[in-house]
Amino acid sequence: MIPFAYSKPTAVDEAVKMAGPDARFIAGGTNLLDLMKENVARPERLIDINALPLRDVETTATGGLRVGALVPNSDLAWHPEVEARYPLLSQAILAGASPQLRNMATTGGNLLQRTRCYYFYDSAVPCNKREPGSGCPAKEGVNRIHAILGASDQCVATHPSDMCVALAALEAEVIVTGPGGERRIPFADFHRLPGDQPERDNVLEADELILAVELPAERFTTHYAYLKLRDRASYAFALVSVAAALEMDGDRISTARIALGGVAHKPWRVAEAEALLVGQLADQANFAKAADALLRGAQPLEHNAFKVELAHGAIIRALGEAAGGITQ
Ligand SMILES: Cc1cc2nc3c(=O)[nH]c(=O)nc-3n(C[C@H](O)[C@H](O)[C@H](O)COP(=O)(O)OP(=O)(O)OC[C@H]3O[C@@H](n4cnc5c(N)ncnc54)[C@H](O)[C@@H]3O)c2cc1C
Repeated sequence: MIPFAYSKPTAVDEAVKMAGPDARFIAGGTNLLDLMKENVARPERLIDINALPLRDVETTATGGLRVGALVPNSDLAWHPEVEARYPLLSQAILAGASPQLRNMATTGGNLLQRTRCYYFYDSAVPCNKREPGSGCPAKEGVNRIHAILGASDQCVATHPSDMCVALAALEAEVIVTGPGGERRIPFADFHRLPGDQPERDNVLEADELILAVELPAERFTTHYAYLKLRDRASYAFALVSVAAALEMDGDRISTARIALGGVAHKPWRVAEAEALLVGQLADQANFAKAADALLRGAQPLEHNAFKVELAHGAIIRALGEAAGGITQ
């Protein structure tokens, strides 16, 4: 770990003025401190944002919910408004990490947590995400946990968050501020595919701060499921996860949202897969068609072909649970 300067602003404007490429905001620290200890992140300045007024959960004028960037993951999962109006989100958050980590981890930090690719964490080996242009040992190396969709020649890492998979299905927006003022970013556009700039996980600029995440008015309070498949039953990242949210009209589906985690550099959605389900019976055959569409173009690596089959089955199971309105 290298020496760094530390400051703790109390106003958002002040924090934004301090930001820059040589600095990092620190919230819960559950990811950033690990990265600093491993020499993967080497900020010269740490800007502690814990004194900023970003801890509120409020209903918006349009009936949605605005969640401050510093709301801890635990508080969010157990918040009565979230449990009642966005149970898919509660379920996804509680599937992640451990109670202690969820107590520290924040909403903004969860969005910006970095990949769990082993090569990214090992500063003794090349990694295009950590050191652009140095190479990607994961492509030919141990790649069991890596991407099957949307990867590039330069990077096959996945985004590790559970919460983000639910936020993608619920079509949240990310509200950020920077020197140019505030902007709202639809969740689908917030994280990016690696392409030839794998060092960039998302579209946030170095001098921008996440203020909040905003959920639209609730729709999926009965027919939802978050299914996470992993090596251990707890305290493990997803090999594959599925957030499924449906609206039903009798035994037919009227709206479908499906997002996958653990398979790509960002939560994975395919509009065609969701459209295929609209007006259809909620049965295995139709779920399988949606799964085919979601996984079309999958390009497994040497050790992760199992993810394609695992994801296919998980999509069918999650959609079945969501359609059945099974209490999670
Ligand atoms: C052992 C372990 C197991 C885990 N398991 C899971 C799991 O199963 N599922 C899962 O989803 N997650 C898991 N996590 C990850 C955990 O959820 C994240 O570490 C956490 O959400 C990050 O939040 P934080 O507030 O601690 O972020 P920090 O570590 O403080 O920051 C992370 C990044 O976000 C930036 N940042 C933070 N807040 C803001 C803001 N408001 N604006 C701009 N930038 C900001 C920081 O600069 C930094 O780059 C696990 C973590 C550990 C250590």
